[in-house]
Amino acid sequence: MKRALLVAALAAVSCKVNLTPEGISKAYRGIKEARKDLTPENEYYVGRAVATNILAKSNYKYRDESGFSSGKLEGMTAYVNAVGNVVAMASLETPHDGDRPTPLAGWHFVVLEDKTINAFAAPGGYIFVTAGAIEQAGNEDELAAILAHEVAHVRRGHALGSIKKSRMAGVMKEMLDSSVELDKQALGTLTEAFDGAMDDMMDSLLVKGYSRDTEFEADSVGLEIMLKAGYDGSAFVSYLKKLNAHQATGSGGFSATHPKASDRISKLEKKVAKAPKVTVPKARINRFKAAVLGVE
Ligand SMILES: [Zn+2]
Repeated sequence: MKRALLVAALAAVSCKVNLTPEGISKAYRGIKEARKDLTPENEYYVGRAVATNILAKSNYKYRDESGFSSGKLEGMTAYVNAVGNVVAMASLETPHDGDRPTPLAGWHFVVLEDKTINAFAAPGGYIFVTAGAIEQAGNEDELAAILAHEVAHVRRGHALGSIKKSRMAGVMKEMLDSSVELDKQALGTLTEAFDGAMDDMMDSLLVKGYSRDTEFEADSVGLEIMLKAGYDGSAFVSYLKKLNAHQATGSGGFSATHPKASDRISKLEKKVAKAPKVTVPKARINRFKAAVLGVE
């Protein structure tokens, strides 16, 4: 059943908003005051629309399309979803004031067929990670660090927070009242405002990025989450070191939207040093090799 909800997003055509008028209205009522009044249902609608836009921008190239359709994920996608769900569940045990509630339709982790190193999270628990980012990870703990950073963005409602306040001003109060039936013009205005909110979020996710402090927060909360899940915190730093080396020679992907990896490392190092040492079990090493490197 969970999967069926993602399939609706995955199967959507490449248009900006592919929701019903009722869906748009529900979603917009939720985002009218940014995160404050947003219900899990609102977040689901908003997240589904953002996820659809991300897939459209990626030309719908992602792993295991048939697995998403049948509800039986396979290979690397199944593995990334298993690790991602462990991390996401651990995020419930590290609550912070203002955290978004658990996504209504569960968490979904999609592997994009893209060599650039990147990952991003839509509201409602839709997380995208490129094959390039996964290939950079040398082990499951580093993969968990990437996913924990993205889970933290969702839990802290960062994408929703990037919707410009000015978007909300032009919308009449009556339009946000569920008991009022929308005429064609009102629906048009609402759709336009919803479109604008989508643009704000897509811009933050793919082009401009969030503020530095927002990213440092996702790192700090992400580290807490991965430690809670039993992963080795030093893997977060070792992955960032790889990103740092990559940033010295390349651009695009995460470089365009995230602070310098060296700055992220200096913010995290002390916390990582204080974290308990983890002995990585052999089974964890082997299952990463099998799922990501294809080594049995
Ligand atoms: Zn981030």
